Amino acid sequence: MTLGQITGVPILDYHRIVPVSRFGASDDRFGVHESAFREQLQLLLDLKITVVTPEDIAAGQLPARSVALTFDDGYSSHYEIAFRELSEFKVTATFFVNTSSIGTGEFLDWTMAAEMIRGGMRFGSHAHNHIVLTTLNSDRVREELRVSRQMLEQHLASAIEVLAVPYGFCDQHVLDAAWESGYRVVCTSKPWPAQKGARVLSRVGVLQQTSLNEFRKLVEKDPAVYLRLLGRDRALAIPRYVFVRLRPEILGVRTAEDSL
Ligand SMILES: [Zn+2]
Repeated sequence: MTLGQITGVPILDYHRIVPVSRFGASDDRFGVHESAFREQLQLLLDLKITVVTPEDIAAGQLPARSVALTFDDGYSSHYEIAFRELSEFKVTATFFVNTSSIGTGEFLDWTMAAEMIRGGMRFGSHAHNHIVLTTLNSDRVREELRVSRQMLEQHLASAIEVLAVPYGFCDQHVLDAAWESGYRVVCTSKPWPAQKGARVLSRVGVLQQTSLNEFRKLVEKDPAVYLRLLGRDRALAIPRYVFVRLRPEILGVRTAEDSL
């Protein structure tokens, strides 16, 4: 690979969208402010970048300049803010939800999700519980993936074929369980553009600190930005896999031990 030539399609990964009324009040580094999100959608429009879906990328037929938009964890702000903005800009996105959270606390309920589907949005599984799948045995992974897919298909009357693994933790046994459970595409959190025609798609996070300038570099596949993000991800990968086994509380993630 030479600088200036990164292949693939960026899949942007969002978490909470923070409303104007809570500006300055959120210290959640994953929470993107409403106005920043709007500026990002406007920039995609200005740059004439087509918004596609993870399934389109896996199928490999795409316009020259495209991105996909994804949202994790199923927050109600996805309905209240993201859905409204996306509809206004006439673009779609995929929402990965944990079916055990739907209708509780700060999360989407089924009525909101159904309205989003009718409005052209898509849904995928983020497992039934928000748990590190690599710490579960194969039967429990399959159960997490099967229950979640069944519930989503039942409530939304829509085929669910894409899984995003919680916290980005993935290995071969998780992938095998996904294929066996009827998923066709798995999204991870390796910060790199997704490769056309692949079944395992990397995604790059959009965070509170992501400036519009950096966002532009992400969607235009600036090699320096991706190499920096990938370098940081690689440096943290081994400690992350060690800590998730030995000291998961340090990472603040939920593992098999917590759920027994
Ligand atoms: Zn998540």
